Amino acid sequence: MSVSSPCEICATADVEAACDRCGKLVCSRHYDEELGLCIECAADVGEDDRENIPNSEDMPDGVDTYQF
Ligand SMILES: [Zn+2]
Ligand SMILES: [Zn+2]
Repeated sequence: MSVSSPCEICATADVEAACDRCGKLVCSRHYDEELGLCIECAADVGEDDRENIPNSEDMPDGVDTYQF
């Protein structure tokens, strides 16, 4: 098999791993080892899957004076 194809995201670095979700071949910089996904899927999944959720209507931070 051809293992010499470049990262499908940056198209420059060597492929380090394959995304477990979309199957994209990515370099180590564009691969999230914790999730086993490419950064695109990692951003997609990791955002509202666990840990903290940065922005949402879940944080009444402004108290008063927040009219849009
Ligand atoms: Zn890359
Ligand atoms: Zn992916």
